[in-house]
Amino acid sequence: VAKKNNRGGHQFYQEAYTMTIKRKLEMDVYLRDAIKSKELEVHFQPIFKAQDQSIIGYEALARWNDKIFGSVSPTEFIAIAEESDLILPLGELVIDHAVQFIEQQCQKGEYVSINVSPKQLMHPSFKSYLIKQLKHTSMDPKQLAIEVTENVMVKMNEYITQLIQQDELQGIRFFVDDFGTGYSNLSQLKKIQFNALKIDRSFVKELPHSKTDISLVKVMVLMAKELNLEVIAEGVETQQQMACLAELGCQYIQGFLLGRPAKAKRQ
Ligand code: C2E
Ligand code: MG
Ligand code: MG
Ligand code: MG
Repeated sequence: VAKKNNRGGHQFYQEAYTMTIKRKLEMDVYLRDAIKSKELEVHFQPIFKAQDQSIIGYEALARWNDKIFGSVSPTEFIAIAEESDLILPLGELVIDHAVQFIEQQCQKGEYVSINVSPKQLMHPSFKSYLIKQLKHTSMDPKQLAIEVTENVMVKMNEYITQLIQQDELQGIRFFVDDFGTGYSNLSQLKKIQFNALKIDRSFVKELPHSKTDISLVKVMVLMAKELNLEVIAEGVETQQQMACLAELGCQYIQGFLLGRPAKAKRQ
């Protein structure tokens, strides 16, 4: 009986595995299409000043609602895009939407941040595309921010430093995304010139009850002050979390409580 079960288990595993591969391959094809036909959308989630809840910027988030697959999480389709070269046209589409949003809907002091994955960041076309966009539009480079995760920031420190120092890109902001989930240390952080830390949602979720998370957020805020960085807390869903974060000295917040990602208004 055991043997039979084993075989059954193995077969099940095989099928699940084949399904995953099949889904990935198909998604790659449909995603390619969605990018080409501009079916892929970009939503914008506001980022607020904790003190007076005024908007200081927005994060651009890719959205894919496919006829067959339905609404696919960016975590899934970004990973697929990173595996092929699809991340390049996808990234350019996001930049186009962000630029359009900046020009049509942002106040002068507001920025839009885009998420950039490692392959996209390192590709030479990324830099030239940004420079082209800055040349041909009226936006101030200060209105564009680039989010990379902590690990990418550390691994690609030298490349990012070069990128930031590029004359044509002066003013662009750099944020460390999902801060606290990676493996950077203080001395590494000191070497990288960036503008803000985004405290990962996992540290916000259990506020104000978790003593550990209170301590961790406190340390991150202190550290950011020391390094002259702004702090944005991600995933703020309740009034209590917001109050707690404000009390801990976190200047900026983003989350469903104050604003969900939404489509740009048509103009
Ligand atoms: P992220 O950059 O950390 O983005 C924040 C995620 O948290 C977004 O998920 C957002 O919708 C979600 N979020 C915001 N506020 C709340 C909240 O109060 N509660 C909860 N539970 N969630 C909240 P989303 O849009 O599903 O994106 C997931 C990840 O996919 C992003 O994480 C980012 O790493 C990646 N991603 C999204 N768009 C792009 C893109 O255009 N390019 C790249 N390379 N990656 C992207
Ligand atoms: Mg982000
Ligand atoms: Mg994040
Ligand atoms: Mg995150």
